[in-house]
Amino acid sequence: MSGGDNVTDPLAKTPAPESGGLMVKAERVHKSFGRLEVLKGIDLEVRQGEVMCVVGPSGSGKSTFLRCINHLEKINAGRLWVNGHLVGYRQQGGKLYELRDREVSAQRREIGMVFQRFNLFPHMTALENVMGAPVWVKRQPKDQVRSRALTLLERVGLADKAQVYPSQLSGGQQQRVAIARALAMEPALMLFDEPTSALDPELVGEVLDVMKQLALSGMTMVVVTHEMGFAREVGDSLVFMDDGVVVEEGTPREVLANPQHQRTQDFLSKVL
Ligand code: ADP
Ligand code: MG
Repeated sequence: MSGGDNVTDPLAKTPAPESGGLMVKAERVHKSFGRLEVLKGIDLEVRQGEVMCVVGPSGSGKSTFLRCINHLEKINAGRLWVNGHLVGYRQQGGKLYELRDREVSAQRREIGMVFQRFNLFPHMTALENVMGAPVWVKRQPKDQVRSRALTLLERVGLADKAQVYPSQLSGGQQQRVAIARALAMEPALMLFDEPTSALDPELVGEVLDVMKQLALSGMTMVVVTHEMGFAREVGDSLVFMDDGVVVEEGTPREVLANPQHQRTQDFLSKVL
């Protein structure tokens, strides 16, 4: 990304919307990889404190959308705001400028992400994994970070595993450490990309329980998942994506009980 370039996109003068309780706002978001158009105009809003569950067939663009929110992919058209900031841009004197790497990092710090695979550092204990980012990135004092990390490990039910290495933890425990690690940066928004898909079935529940507690604490969450029980119980909204578009959105109860579109019905009949 070339920092500081003025953007000539005609949409560039679109003013940022009032953040007015919105944590994420996507407006006509497009993303292509070469000739493959993966996101074909996504419009979505996530309110502060909302838990949005996203479902849809493999390849429909769910992960790509999360990766765009988290600056791991750059959108080709449209606009994306997170926590009142336009993702990747800074507004100055009525113009938009691409953010420099350091500014991108600052925006990314507001977002925690948990992936299907746990990606813990294997040579570091659970506690060290949770402490890493606040110490290295935020340069916060170690003592303070350690006590917060221990509190977080307690919150995900792993107070007794602080000194244990990832290889000695089950998949469910590793994923709970990954959640604690993301929370250590005190994000305003948490993204989950199929956090239980790689787990043995008997380990899924403990991770969903931690996510449910997090939701109850008021965290804003976007959760890509095929766990319809979780979506129904914990989700405030349910979005069905297919082929790069949002086909249907509503409360989980509405969408699951009374899907409006054939594509949603076909998908739900396979996963329910
Ligand atoms: P989902 O998470 O819904 O399964 P993805 O967002 O992972 O879907 O992928 C959507 C489409 O984009 C797929 O066809 C996938 O192959 C393609 N894709 C994703 N990432 C890349 C990439 N970095 N380069 C090329 N194609 C990609
Ligand atoms: Mg995916």
